[in-house]
Formats: sequence, C-alpha cells, structure tokens
Amino acid sequence: MDKTHQAFFTSHGIKSTIQRNLVLDLLQESESPVSAEDIYLKAALLQPTVNLSTIYRTLELFCSKNIAVKSTLSESKKAVYELNTHTHKHYMVCLKCKRMVPLTNCPCSLIEKAVSENSDFEILDHKLEIVGYCPECK
Ligand SMILES: [Zn+2]
Ligand SMILES: [Zn+2]
Repeated sequence: MDKTHQAFFTSHGIKSTIQRNLVLDLLQESESPVSAEDIYLKAALLQPTVNLSTIYRTLELFCSKNIAVKSTLSESKKAVYELNTHTHKHYMVCLKCKRMVPLTNCPCSLIEKAVSENSDFEILDHKLEIVGYCPECK
C-alpha cells in the first residue's frame, strides 16, 4: 500500500502505522458499520501479520480520537464501527444476514417535536434501530 493517511493521522494526534492505514481504508470502503471481526477478516487478506487484538485496539483508538464511532446492536449485542461522518444516521438491521441498510433520512423529527411539546425534556439526540428481514431473507 503506497497511499497513506499520514496527514490525517497527524491532524488527529496519532502516528501513521501500516495497521492504522489499513483499518482506515477498510472503514472508508464499507458502506455500513462493521464489526472488529469483519475488519480483521478483510485486513488479514491484505496484511497477514495483523491480529484481532491489534484491530480492536486500533478501532478503540479511532473512537477515542473521534475518527470512528462505535455502536452496539441491541439484537446481537455486537459492537460495530463506522467512520465518524458527523452526520445523523439510522439503520435497518436484517435479523438473518445482519446486513445494515441506512435510512435515507431521519424520521424522528416529528417524534422529537411531539415529545418536547409535551414535556420539559431537552432532547439532545435519539437512537433508532429498525429490525426485520431484508429483501433477500424475507
Ligand atoms: Zn438479510
Ligand atoms: Zn434520527
């Protein structure tokens, strides 16, 4: 791999390493959040010296530097990671193949409006997860 993200890592105050470049590439490639195991399986094909604990540590480091965000799926309790795009996103999760399909927009603004009108609660954020079966699995 000749393309590195050195300037990007420097701007986040961490050193550019082969593993970090690789994990960043793989996060950029994936359209939906991925688990550490998914990243590891792909990384091992490109860089046979990587191991799962390095991938975990790299992902946790990325989260602590706000490069990536971690979320835990309520259904499987599995942690998944995605690049921190600073955008608000929700996913539909397939219970069978575990595929995560992003919703094109957030349907929650009406709920937030209704809730804040009927309570004193100051709403900062919300979480929404839609579970079911994707077109291939249903
Ligand atoms: Zn499915
Ligand atoms: Zn939302």
